[in-house]
Amino acid sequence: MEITCSAKELFVFKKIAHAAADLGLETYVVGGFVRDKLLGRLTKDADIVCVGDGIALANAVAQRFSPAPSVAFYKNFGTAALKIEEFDVEFVGARKESYRYHSRNPEVEPGTLEEDQLRRDFTINAMAVSLNEQNYGVLIDPFEGRKDLENKIIRTPLEPGQTFSDDPLRMLRAIRFASQLGFSIEETTWKGICMHVERIRIISQERITEELNKILQSTQPSIGLDLLYKSGLLHIIFPQLVDLAGAEYIDGKGHKDNFYHTLQVVDNIAVHTNDLWLRWAALLHDIGKPATKKFEPGHGWTFHGHEVVGGRMVPRIFAKLKLPQNEKMRYVRKLVELHLRPISLTKENITDSAIRRLLFDAGDEIEDLMLLCSADITSKNKFKVKKYLTNFALVKQRLQEVEENDRIRNWQPPISGELIMEIFGLAPGRIVGDIKNAIREAILDGEIPNSYEAAYTLMVEKAREYNLQPKQ
Ligand code: ATP
Repeated sequence: MEITCSAKELFVFKKIAHAAADLGLETYVVGGFVRDKLLGRLTKDADIVCVGDGIALANAVAQRFSPAPSVAFYKNFGTAALKIEEFDVEFVGARKESYRYHSRNPEVEPGTLEEDQLRRDFTINAMAVSLNEQNYGVLIDPFEGRKDLENKIIRTPLEPGQTFSDDPLRMLRAIRFASQLGFSIEETTWKGICMHVERIRIISQERITEELNKILQSTQPSIGLDLLYKSGLLHIIFPQLVDLAGAEYIDGKGHKDNFYHTLQVVDNIAVHTNDLWLRWAALLHDIGKPATKKFEPGHGWTFHGHEVVGGRMVPRIFAKLKLPQNEKMRYVRKLVELHLRPISLTKENITDSAIRRLLFDAGDEIEDLMLLCSADITSKNKFKVKKYLTNFALVKQRLQEVEENDRIRNWQPPISGELIMEIFGLAPGRIVGDIKNAIREAILDGEIPNSYEAAYTLMVEKAREYNLQPKQ
């Protein structure tokens, strides 16, 4: 084989080859599997193309295993899938495609291997390995995909304009592969993308967001995000990020380019975490800056409250991008809202109560918040960076000390709302909230100890302001 496969993969391919030979079908492994094997990347599934009926081949292959795995059919697409010990294999008949202007879904007819390779998006995705007796294991690479892999180039097999106009999702795929693999997009392919950005509007939001997520999950997401920006695609699919770009000058005073700053923060955080949602928080941490930007004469540019405004933008952005409207969104919002807190602590005398408050507000997200904050230090001034990082280490140490002493993370005040209602015979309402808050604030500020007795005394005092006495 011209690709290096595991023993299990080779075993499965042999079974496929024998089943295909019995049916008299020409058969190949194609696409991402071949690309990733040649790159030495992890593979989890393989696409098999045969010249003929892919579903019949899938059934014949399944019969060669005992017990036979069940075959999943996607009749509309003429594909079938098998799972053999965690190895997913998808079968399809070779096809040729023709496109209509308003849809990315082509008319499909049976075709030859060459026609099937021609319909694929990039040369590196259009390689096939034969499973046929006469040339078993040989790489069939009509568009020099292997050379492009070696030179780290993304290129379309056909004229790029046509490729991208036919299926505009390919523009995002090109940029996503560039970002995932650290490849460059070949010049005419790049021009093809830049010329057809408007066509992205026919692609569903779900597919766009899937590609955005893949870009964000790549080792260096800034590659993809910058290409999205430079092509003009980002202006259509994510204009709020574009609003961060550029620097304005008044009286010779400028501010940093918040788009490139954001990209740097995302790359910084990507070194420390693969968590998609923490990466989303990095991407959105300054999203409120354009809306809050002001020039204050004698002082310079300010973005007061951008963390609050940014936090409020998160649910809208998540809804538009069809990202989940659940605890993931609330997590991102929380990090955006809190992203200035640890750094602001480094500027003042750090009191225990400030630390306690941060622990209380961040809860379980405190480590992620600290990671986001250190990723946010991107100044070019080495001196400044060193000072920030030193102060920051101090905040981290204090957080640890206060947490060990007070166990404030996920802490609940010793007296609950229910208890207050019971003690004073109250129905739910504002007074219960006021008393509860007073207790919480006093403990966080260190005015009273974190104990039931101290909280009870304060509760009784506070209740007196409302002419309330504990019921016996
Ligand atoms: P990944 O698994 O990372 O998404 P992949 O290349 O395996 O990468 P799939 O979406 O599984 O992606 O596609 C499998 C193969 O199908 C590709 O390698 C490519 O040959 C072809 N392909 C997928 N999408 C398109 C498209 N929009 N236009 C043309 N060919 C495509």
